[in-house]
Amino acid sequence: MKVKKNDTVYIITGKDAGKTGKVLSADPDKNRVVVDGVNVQKKHYKARRQGEVSSIKQQSGPIDASNVMVVCPKCNKGVRVHYLVEGDAKHRVCAKCGANLDEAYAVSRSAKAAKGDDKAKKPARKTKKADDKKAKAE
Ligand SMILES: [Zn+2]
Repeated sequence: MKVKKNDTVYIITGKDAGKTGKVLSADPDKNRVVVDGVNVQKKHYKARRQGEVSSIKQQSGPIDASNVMVVCPKCNKGVRVHYLVEGDAKHRVCAKCGANLDEAYAVSRSAKAAKGDDKAKKPARKTKKADDKKAKAE
């Protein structure tokens, strides 16, 4: 799959065609990506515990990876991706200008390493949401 997490992509088909957004998650097994603000779906949350409030949240849904193009920061538009092999290293380059796309989006990867794994991050986010709900209820 030519699209990776944290890439900025341009949507070429579907109801969000023409939009650009950041890839929140990528699933190479299913060939699907979740792009921020794209294929937004309403999800209904029912209050399951005391203090929780039922709510409807809008979430970005998965779309097929073939419906997006990686945005080249240099060309500033969706481009096809070529692979450049240098010795043992392989990286993604823009098919038009040859800019190194892995390098362009690499900042986020080192940031991810600093944050630690995603699983450690998720429960904290949930707690925060629960607190927000509590604050609203009071
Ligand atoms: Zn380019």
